[in-house]
Amino acid sequence: MTSKLLQEFSTPFYLYDEEVIQNKVLFLNSLDFKFDFKFHFAVKANPNLAILNLIKKYNFGAEVVSAGELFKSLKAGFDPTSVIFDGPGKTEFDLKYAITQQIKSINVENLEEIAFINEYSLNKGLITNIGIRINPDIDAKTLDKITTGKSGGKFGVSVDQIDFESIAKFKGVRLTTLSEHIGSQITDHNQLISSYQKLISLADKINTSLKTIQTLDFGGGFGVIDHSDKKLNFRDWQNDLNQLLDGKSYNIIFEPGRYVVADSGELYTKVLYVKKSGNKKIIITDSSFSEYLRPALYDITPPIKVLNESQDLETYDIAGGICESTDYLAKDVQIPRVKQGDFIKLMNVGAYGSSMSSTYNSRPRPLEILKNKEEYRVIRSRDTLEDLCKNEIM
Ligand code: PLP
Repeated sequence: MTSKLLQEFSTPFYLYDEEVIQNKVLFLNSLDFKFDFKFHFAVKANPNLAILNLIKKYNFGAEVVSAGELFKSLKAGFDPTSVIFDGPGKTEFDLKYAITQQIKSINVENLEEIAFINEYSLNKGLITNIGIRINPDIDAKTLDKITTGKSGGKFGVSVDQIDFESIAKFKGVRLTTLSEHIGSQITDHNQLISSYQKLISLADKINTSLKTIQTLDFGGGFGVIDHSDKKLNFRDWQNDLNQLLDGKSYNIIFEPGRYVVADSGELYTKVLYVKKSGNKKIIITDSSFSEYLRPALYDITPPIKVLNESQDLETYDIAGGICESTDYLAKDVQIPRVKQGDFIKLMNVGAYGSSMSSTYNSRPRPLEILKNKEEYRVIRSRDTLEDLCKNEIM
C-alpha cells in the first residue's frame, strides 16, 4: 500500500490506521473495573472529524478545551451530554456555547468562571453541571513541559482557595465533579494513583456535608513509547484503582488522548536535499515543524523509518525547510543512508501531530488519510494556496 499511496499523493501526508485506534479503544473498554466508568477522548490529540466519529462509535465521550473542539465534536456525532469542557483559559464565548449546549460538565480552572456560568445559566433558565479541576500538587514524573499537576503551575485550582459551601449555594450551577490531569506521557502508574487518591479523599470530605460530588474525572496522560522505553503498566494501574474505589460509588471519567491515537499515525515525508555542515550530515525534508512540531517543542525524537533498501547506516540531523534554527524533526539519529528523493516516515505521530500543525511560512497544512486494511480514504485534503488567503482582506 505504501508505494501506491506515494504514487497517488504527494508528501507530506499523515496516514492513520483505523484498526490501531479500534484496538486501543477496545482495550480500554475491556479493562476490568469494578466501578462505573467512561472514557472521554481528549479531542486536542486529534480533532479530525473522521477520527472523532470513529472513536465515538465505541461508546467514548469527548473532552474539549475550546468552542471549536466542542463544535467539531458535536459535528462528529457526540451527544452534548457526553462532552466535558476543560481548559485554564475559557473565554465568555466558550462558556456561553458550552452552557447553551448543556454539556455533561464544564470543569472550571478559575473560580471566577463559576460566577459567570451561574449568572448566564440563570439568565437562560438553565442549571449547568460543573466540575472543579483540582491542582493536586503531584509530580507526574514525565517531561517537564508536559507536567500539569504541580503547585505553582497555571492548571487547576488549589484546594485551599475553594469555598465549597458558597459554591453549593449558587442556583444556576450544580457542582457534580472534581477533576484533575497531572500531565501527559505518564509511565509510572504510582503517580497517577497518588493523584487519584487525593481527589477521592477530597470528594469524600466534601460529601460528608454537601453530598454533591458524584463524578471524579481523573484526566488522561497514559504514556506511549516515545521519549523513553517505559510503558504504563495498565494491569497494575487497574488493580490499584479497583482497590482505591472499593466501597465507593463515584462515576469515574478518564480523558485519554495520546494513548488512543498516537500509535495509529505516520507522517510521510520526502528527502529534498542531503548536505554536510561541519561534522554533521543534514537531511532537509519536505516536512518541518509546521507539519510536526513536537521535536522542536519538547526535544523528543519520533521513531523513524527510511523507505529505501540501503544497508549502510549514517548519523544525520533531520530538518525542515522553515527559516528557524529550531526546525528539526530529529537530531543525531542513525538511519540507513539516504539520497535525494527517498522517503522517510515518522511513526507514532497520530497524537498532537496534525493537530499542532500550522501554516507557518505559509505552508499548506498536510493531507490526512485513514486506512483500514487495503482500503483508504482522504479525511482532510491538503490546504490549497487559495486556502492560505481565505480569511484575509487586502
Ligand atoms: N485532559 C486534559 C485536561 C488535558 O489537558 C489533556 C492533555 O493536555 C488530556 C486530558 C489528554 O492527555 P493525553 O493525551 O496525555 O492523554
